[in-house]
Amino acid sequence: QLINLETFCLNLLEDFQLFDTKQTVIHFIKYGRCYRANMDEKLLYSILSNLLLNAIKYSPQGGNIYLFLKCEVEATIFQVKDEGIGIPQHEQQKIYEPFYRGQNVENIVGTGLGLAVVKKCVELHQGEIFVESEVGVGTTFTVKIPH
Ligand code: ATP
Ligand code: MG
Repeated sequence: QLINLETFCLNLLEDFQLFDTKQTVIHFIKYGRCYRANMDEKLLYSILSNLLLNAIKYSPQGGNIYLFLKCEVEATIFQVKDEGIGIPQHEQQKIYEPFYRGQNVENIVGTGLGLAVVKKCVELHQGEIFVESEVGVGTTFTVKIPH
């Protein structure tokens, strides 16, 4: 269905403020002018909420998190950026596998399924997902969904 992406993101962030016990600050930054996209609302919710949950979970108390919405001619780009623990280079290929959990997250609760679901949802839209991350600096996930 046709979604107003800006409204969708703002509503989603409102949901997140309610249960963010780590007092992270989520910044919403948008570029471009076309904010409507033909996407499945449930799949998009699943993509963004899992990425934001990870960003919160793997961030320090009070950390900054950014949700970027970029509308380009041929695709919509979503980015979730955090200043958290980061993902070691050698694990960055494995994190989308069901039940895979990083070696540096042993004392943080999780099942290792979030990103497997995200990847599936992205593929159902013929999209792509990338990660850029540095241990101790932070992580940025980029999701590109063609129009
Ligand atoms: P679940 O999402 O099922 O509760 P999870 O968060 O461990 O558990 P995924 O979301 O699939 O599972 O993530 C897989 C692994 O990727 C995590 O265990 C963690 O090692 C790493 N990871 C994912 N997102 C981040 C992030 N923003 N910062 C640091 N590590 C991350
Ligand atoms: Mg997760």
